[in-house]
Amino acid sequence: MSSIETDYLVVGGGAAGIAFTDALVADSDADVVIVDRRHRAGGHWNDAYPFVRLHQPAAFYGVNSRVLGSDTIDTTGRNAGGYERVTAAEILEYFDHVLASLVGSGRVRFFGMSDYEFDGGDTHRFVSRLTGEETTVTVRRKLVDATYLETSVPSTHTPSFAVDEDARMIPVNGLVKLADSGSGFTILGAGKTAMDACIWLVDEGVDPGSIRWVRPRDGWLLNRDYAQPLELIGWMMEGVARNLECAAEAQSVEDLFRRLEASEQLLRVDESVEPTMYRCATVNRGEIETLRSIEQVVRLGRVRSIGTSAIEMEDGTLPTDGRQIHVDCTADGLHVGPGRPIFAGDTITLQQVRTCQPTYNAALVGFVEAVKGDEVTKNRLCPPNPYPTRATDWIGGTAISQRSEMVTMADPEVGPWREASRLNAAAGLMDHLDDPMVTAAAGRFAIFGEPAIENLHRLEASLTS
Ligand SMILES: Cc1cc2nc3c(=O)[nH]c(=O)nc-3n(C[C@H](O)[C@H](O)[C@H](O)COP(=O)(O)OP(=O)(O)OC[C@H]3O[C@@H](n4cnc5c(N)ncnc54)[C@H](O)[C@@H]3O)c2cc1C
Repeated sequence: MSSIETDYLVVGGGAAGIAFTDALVADSDADVVIVDRRHRAGGHWNDAYPFVRLHQPAAFYGVNSRVLGSDTIDTTGRNAGGYERVTAAEILEYFDHVLASLVGSGRVRFFGMSDYEFDGGDTHRFVSRLTGEETTVTVRRKLVDATYLETSVPSTHTPSFAVDEDARMIPVNGLVKLADSGSGFTILGAGKTAMDACIWLVDEGVDPGSIRWVRPRDGWLLNRDYAQPLELIGWMMEGVARNLECAAEAQSVEDLFRRLEASEQLLRVDESVEPTMYRCATVNRGEIETLRSIEQVVRLGRVRSIGTSAIEMEDGTLPTDGRQIHVDCTADGLHVGPGRPIFAGDTITLQQVRTCQPTYNAALVGFVEAVKGDEVTKNRLCPPNPYPTRATDWIGGTAISQRSEMVTMADPEVGPWREASRLNAAAGLMDHLDDPMVTAAAGRFAIFGEPAIENLHRLEASLTS
């Protein structure tokens, strides 16, 4: 057994743990130990399907100290007109460089292939998966739990349904290894991974008629056209202004979603079905059109079992055959848990603050930890904002996010930090005040900001009354 000492013990070397560490060490003299059971940084991206790309621009993903990708606007392909979205391979290479640089500073140590055991006690220890050696850690300042939102992906999760050994099922990662097309494809899952699988198959020339999509829930999707930073920040600001306007003026929950759709902030694949899910999945209109080309949509609830002639589902049975390729896209993605205080005594639990921007949030928490003293102030700047799953979670999540935007913007230390942070999708706003789209949107923030928050609280209360 060996023992080490550090100021901060960060459990989880995924994007969140690394973004937190990067921001913390940039503005403090802290020493940090990062522990992860994987062999390298990057978390779930290590197990991602080969054709995945970030849903959102790389320009505001990763860590604060290093640009990811080239900060350029794509001119060809599905993302033409939008800021570059990088692949999983690029993300992993990026985190290798980031970690090397952090370790090179002499203030960060990374212990891969190591399990930390959360036991709630004061003694911290992790065990190497390769040698079995146990290391105890004396933590001078804080334990940082960067696993609370741990992402589940198809290649490593255990499906919640049984599969007959003679039925054909692959995780989404297996699509690129197929040697034949079987009798067609049945995509299982309603989230962004399933959408990516459908779009990839169609782009590779598969006839949409040979794809069935098992979609237990329909979801509201974010419109990537309005998630554009840097030179396209006017679109981002316009999107935020439209969101606030809808939130301020909606008469009911139903009316809110009608307005958000009419103002192009939320999209759905099937306009005849009311979505019940919202998970921050981000698409553009071209992707929606491709998804609409898949007409065999199965809405019989979740899968219970897959056999060689039938798929048993919650609300019925779907015929299948032994050659059909069932593609598992049913992993949960980001873990959904109740919010807990981010700063609580000698523990920091990384969670969402601003909706749908996990690495910005982790860096924000790192910066706030570095520069602020008392816990009340830290928690006021960084309120936990539970990751959304139901459509109606948009309401409370947006209210918390908007309030925290106002509080952080007004703070004398955090305000300038966020204005300069590359992870802040709205960074550089002050440099674009000559852009008429930006100034028009800013005027609407002032009008609709507070009324939006108030009305969202009213709408949220109406859900339980
Ligand atoms: C397909 C896909 C696309 C996405 N696209 C975007 C996007 O475009 N923009 C965006 O902002 N977000 C996107 N996300 C969200 C994404 O999940 C987050 O951006 C981020 O990668 C999550 O990082 P994390 O560190 O919270 O979790 P993880 O990546 O899950 O990392 C957690 C780490 O903790 C480790 N760990 C857990 N328990 C222990 C333990 N006891 N001991 C040791 N180690 C432990 C795990 O091994 C893991 O490496 C996407 C997600 C998916 C699945």
